[in-house]
Amino acid sequence: MKLFDNTEVAFALKTDSQLERAYFLFKMIQNEPMVRIGSAVTNFALKVHLPVEGLIRSTVFDHFCGGVTEEDCLPIIDNMYNNGNVHSVLDYSVEGKDQEVSFDGALEKILKIVDFCEEKKSIPYAVFKPTGFGRFALYQKISEGKELSQEEKEEWSRVEARYHKVCKVAVKKDVPLLIDAEESWMQDAADDLIESLMETYNKDKAIVFNTLQMYRHDRMDYLKALYKRASEKGFHIGMKVVRGAYMEKERERAAEKGYPSPICKNKKATDINYDKAIEFIMEHPKMALFAGTHNEESSYLLMDLAKKYGIDKNDNRLWFGQLFGMSDHISYNLANQGYNVAKYLPFGPVRDVMPYLIRRAEENTSVAGQTSRELNLLKTERKRRKL
Ligand SMILES: Cc1cc2nc3c(=O)[nH]c(=O)nc-3n(C[C@H](O)[C@H](O)[C@H](O)COP(=O)(O)OP(=O)(O)OC[C@H]3O[C@@H](n4cnc5c(N)ncnc54)[C@H](O)[C@@H]3O)c2cc1C
Repeated sequence: MKLFDNTEVAFALKTDSQLERAYFLFKMIQNEPMVRIGSAVTNFALKVHLPVEGLIRSTVFDHFCGGVTEEDCLPIIDNMYNNGNVHSVLDYSVEGKDQEVSFDGALEKILKIVDFCEEKKSIPYAVFKPTGFGRFALYQKISEGKELSQEEKEEWSRVEARYHKVCKVAVKKDVPLLIDAEESWMQDAADDLIESLMETYNKDKAIVFNTLQMYRHDRMDYLKALYKRASEKGFHIGMKVVRGAYMEKERERAAEKGYPSPICKNKKATDINYDKAIEFIMEHPKMALFAGTHNEESSYLLMDLAKKYGIDKNDNRLWFGQLFGMSDHISYNLANQGYNVAKYLPFGPVRDVMPYLIRRAEENTSVAGQTSRELNLLKTERKRRKL
């Protein structure tokens, strides 16, 4: 039996009724039209304040999120860590807020999470999104090389100040920070800012991590160029490597505006690109990797690469990451073998995490192909438990 086929280890933390709930949830979201209609109806119901939060909570929310507040998540964090040796990354998943008060609020949240990380071994990283700290349109304007107005320059200084504030505390408390990647047309501004943070804060080791989306065909060249600059200036690189979550949106925008799509020509090309990036990082001692993936082949490959480059299973430069509610067969089997594993554990008010939940539902439809994987595993475990 291959490592990830062990469903007993994968679902050891799930009671029979939790297993059944997961099975019915994945069966439900397998249906693509239902996800599409369900998402639209739910968004509408929330907008007009229909009482649907309870329903969302007892279905998708509780499966993919840890709770509304970080405190709600603590029992889940302790359970995963004490009984499965799996760590958590508390992910404040409120999206699409565009006001200064929200950005300051997000900063306070992240600072609180950094405190948690310092206290609890079970929470090894803090994480945030670039658009949690500043306006999407502002990142976009900078990425497009447009001149900022005086007011926008001041606004951007406040964005930079938020990053610096969290980085300073992170260095002091020795807590690494993951920074998510978003749409390509705003990402250049985030990349440049994060590189300057790495230069300042990653002198002795990787504290600041950027994210590479390997569905972009330009990312290997970017990684190599970044490595060259880092070697010249003498700083460490921290990288979360993912395939990328906004493929449809990227392709649609490129087609609509008539520029070449930034996305690899097919899934195979993305897979090759992903595997190249993780090997490049493993090869270079001054680079640290957080591999955010549910792909079994890339995960097996990474185990081989660690061996090839003499990196111990529990070396802090190598972490595997999956999302809470998905791919437990990878997380728990890797952790059971002694690898560093963390689950992204999203939290936030139900209505504010809807964009995140809709992305999860969409990538789990039969069309996206992920569900059959989850469903088959759940089926195997139900059979094994004779449910
Ligand atoms: C811990 C963690 C953190 C994450 N953080 C981020 C983040 O910061 N930013 C972000 O964008 N995403 C993030 N993601 C999501 C991630 O990018 C993927 O959407 C998701 O993990 C699915 O990819 P996979 O490697 O697990 O595996 P797979 O299921 O093998 O791959 C699916 C992915 O392959 C790519 N793909 C599919 N079809 C094609 C095609 N025809 N042509 C080209 N490429 C294709 C797409 O990227 C798709 O999401 C994160 C995921 C995890 C687990």
